[in-house]
Amino acid sequence: AFITFEGPDGAGKTSVLNALIDDYSLQLGEKLLTTREPGGNKISEAIRAIIMDKANTEMDARTEALLFAAARRQHLVQTVLPALDAGKVVFSDRYVDSSIAYQGAGREIGEAAVAEMNLFATKGLTPDLTIYFDVPSEVGLTRIHEYRSDEINRLDNEELSFHRRVRHAYLKLLQDEPQRITLIDANQPLEKVITDTKKVIAQRFPN
Ligand code: C5P
Ligand code: MG
Repeated sequence: AFITFEGPDGAGKTSVLNALIDDYSLQLGEKLLTTREPGGNKISEAIRAIIMDKANTEMDARTEALLFAAARRQHLVQTVLPALDAGKVVFSDRYVDSSIAYQGAGREIGEAAVAEMNLFATKGLTPDLTIYFDVPSEVGLTRIHEYRSDEINRLDNEELSFHRRVRHAYLKLLQDEPQRITLIDANQPLEKVITDTKKVIAQRFPN
């Protein structure tokens, strides 16, 4: 099973995932692979470094989208597909929906163009389940400023309007694909977000 985790900045995706990993690795052991995009292998990490580098102020939006798609392709071929072929459960922190939301809507390249580019990159491999952590953009931004301890990178300095476009795009994806994507209200205490998420996964994959 291929499960992806999506959401705007400050939704708490990383915190929830860490809690899930603790739980599910006890349950699944070697059968669980958790990974994140972009990264997970040497080539994708190198591409990630180019994307995130604060010094790359001249990067064009389509270049950024192509780099994300290239990193995704390599991650898929080298990490995700072998695990799925081995019958593992794969949790991926971000996948195609992130690019549609961030590059397509956030950077205003267009969601359809980014979706098409990613169809090429993934040959249409779609997650079995996507958990979307939804949070109002103002709340997300406030959380980032208050709690984020990671180093600030090139992508971390967008304004409220950018984050609103990203969230709106996610909500549109949810409308278009309600069978694949499940919304979790991430504007709740972390513990509740975690239990809600576990419920969704347990419902979709009984045992
Ligand atoms: O939330 P996460 O740590 O996964 O994302 C790292 C940064 O990359 C965030 O600032 C996020 O907004 C950005 N990002 C992006 N386009 C993507 C994926 C992530 O701008 N396709
Ligand atoms: Mg994060």
